[in-house]
Amino acid sequence: MSDQFFGLFERRQLQGSQALALGPSRPATIPCPETGRPLKVATVEVSDRAVCPACTQLGGGGYVSFVSDLRLAFACPTCRKLVWVAGA
Ligand SMILES: [Zn+2]
Repeated sequence: MSDQFFGLFERRQLQGSQALALGPSRPATIPCPETGRPLKVATVEVSDRAVCPACTQLGGGGYVSFVSDLRLAFACPTCRKLVWVAGA
């Protein structure tokens, strides 16, 4: 059920709303959504108060940054997928 986040995060029910927790065995890389090539994960963070760039829901979410790649991925428990955000 956490496949959509590649094991980086797990979905949790928290007082009736969706939240995320860090997955217990996180991968070192996840595939690029465009090329499928592995992207090396740099940091993984969970936030209780984040706004999803896709559905604009305020709630729990997670951020993933990558080594040598300016994109960020936002894990949205409402969209149930990773939303990719272009880096600066
Ligand atoms: Zn969303």
